[in-house]
Amino acid sequence: MQYIVCDQPGSFSIREKEKPVRQPGQALLKVLKVGICGTDIHAYGGNQAYFTYPRILGHELAAEVVEIEDHSNIDVGDRVAIMPYVSCGKCGACRSGKTNCCSSISVLGVHVDGGMQEYMVIDTSLLLPANHLSLDEIMIIEPLAIGAHAMRRANIQVGETIVVVGAGPIGMGIAKLSQLAGARVILMDMNHDRLNYAEQELGITYVVNVRHQPLESIKKWTNGELADAVFDATGHKGALEQGIQYMGHGGRYILVGLSKGDLTFNHPQIHAKESTILCSRNANRIDFEYVMKALPAFPSQSYITHSCDYEEINKHFESWIKPDAGVMKAYLNFDK
Ligand SMILES: [Zn+2]
Ligand SMILES: [Zn+2]
Repeated sequence: MQYIVCDQPGSFSIREKEKPVRQPGQALLKVLKVGICGTDIHAYGGNQAYFTYPRILGHELAAEVVEIEDHSNIDVGDRVAIMPYVSCGKCGACRSGKTNCCSSISVLGVHVDGGMQEYMVIDTSLLLPANHLSLDEIMIIEPLAIGAHAMRRANIQVGETIVVVGAGPIGMGIAKLSQLAGARVILMDMNHDRLNYAEQELGITYVVNVRHQPLESIKKWTNGELADAVFDATGHKGALEQGIQYMGHGGRYILVGLSKGDLTFNHPQIHAKESTILCSRNANRIDFEYVMKALPAFPSQSYITHSCDYEEINKHFESWIKPDAGVMKAYLNFDK
């Protein structure tokens, strides 16, 4: 079987190896689609923290079961989604159900090899049966689950106003899922094309360019009260430090994007609002299940913009990662 490996920054190779052998408690899967994400782009670019090469990337996966134990609730031939977070099950976080931030978490395609291969074995406990969804829908469950987890952290209620800063795949996911859940959504970015896209293709009601006095627009749209919750989906230090100003008194500020160093907030300002500042990391099974229920109403076809057969990765990858390429979500097709 073939697989794609990132040997070193800036290089993918397609190689051959033996099909993996399933161990007890595992399933053998045929990989069908692999979404490309910021993590993969950082790994390719050589600026992903805690990353070692060579590594098989890919953690946004749609697959079909080839072999599985009899007593499982999933059968051979079933389509599955995969939770790519391997947790220890023993640490304090795991014991309290927060496997998403396990102290020794291992993410497929980051800390261990991921899904850019024709076949893979994986613990049955990480699979979710998904026969009722299309392969496109299954492939985008993981990035949307990151957003669903952030929404759950923020405890978003019907009728609340939220601001999402950053109109990449994660920010768009938070914005659209929150809108579907009954929130009033304001989406912010510095890229005009992305905002246009969010407005026209995803139907986001309020979009504002960060270069055009966004605070004034947000005040206008909220009668001066500002947002109940603000999500940062940029991971940029400047945006992370600025974003909290869009939050109203008593609000929540949710850090979804990850920056590399220290952040500074003015204490009197955050104290006056009794700010709740939350980080949101990965996702839990409940978030995956939430997304799987929400997906039929989610405009998946607009969210996915680019694809190619996996053998053509080197022909397309460089162009996909250019900021002006208009890529929202791209995937590699292994389905043949
Ligand atoms: Zn991802
Ligand atoms: Zn753990």
